[in-house]
Amino acid sequence: MNEPAKGVLLVCATPIGNLGDVTLRVLDALRTADIIQAEDTRVTRKLLTRYEIRTPTEPYHEHNRAARTAGLVERIERGERIALVSDAGTPGISDPGEHLVDACLEAGVRVEVLPGPSAIMTALVASGLPTHAFYFGGFLPRKAGERSRALAQLACLDATLVFYESPGRTVATLASLAEAFPGRSVALARELTKLHEEVARGEAGELASRFADREFKGEVVLLVGPPNAPSQLALDEHAVRERLASLEAEGLTRRDAVRDAAAQLGLPRNDVYRISLGDR
Ligand code: SAM
Repeated sequence: MNEPAKGVLLVCATPIGNLGDVTLRVLDALRTADIIQAEDTRVTRKLLTRYEIRTPTEPYHEHNRAARTAGLVERIERGERIALVSDAGTPGISDPGEHLVDACLEAGVRVEVLPGPSAIMTALVASGLPTHAFYFGGFLPRKAGERSRALAQLACLDATLVFYESPGRTVATLASLAEAFPGRSVALARELTKLHEEVARGEAGELASRFADREFKGEVVLLVGPPNAPSQLALDEHAVRERLASLEAEGLTRRDAVRDAAAQLGLPRNDVYRISLGDR
């Protein structure tokens, strides 16, 4: 009887702060793998040292993945058990991993995902915002104009919006959120599962002023609650776009078309303006 192939890619979720949050299954996989592919081997070393795991590590990150992915697939095909970890949380989520998983699946190589911590889920639940539907937007564009355009496209989505952000850009991003989503509930979740864990809630503008002078350290997730008013929920983007197009076809400027479309459809001008931005 043929033995099943031994080679496998083990995608291992690791803690986002508190080293106690690793699963038993992940520890076993890290211990028994032939090799661990780590985004930063020094970061992973802390976890391995804590659990006395001596499996060797190799770097697999954004800058070497193009050169290394095919070789790793071949090694798994030859029978290696390869564990993949990122610095924190679930590999593949705004972290290296998705390309390797894709390449393994394309080659017919076995992939197992060992679930565990991810900042998205932890922040979503900690925020207290509605969880019935959520949209994960990863990292927003760094340039303010591109960021505003990206946010404008999400204005009507009936879901809690979740964004990753670096501490240095948090206040600027809060300002963009204030502009794009006036009146909506926002939560800032930082240092989750760590000593200085904090969840701050309010409107984006308030949070921007509250955090403006504070030296901001640590990792951050920003969340925006769904649109509040039922009228916003019911916004029919398609109808707005059509009305704008026909008004512009009549010769109105974008600004006048927004004003008239809002009046004709009985919608807040801000909402119509946001939809018009997504239209450009
Ligand atoms: N793969 C990871 C996951 O599953 O959560 C995410 C990696 S991404 C490069 C890093 C971002 O995750 C940070 O910029 C921050 O937005 C968020 N993050 C990670 N750990 C966090 C923590 N302990 N508290 C708050 N946000 C965190």
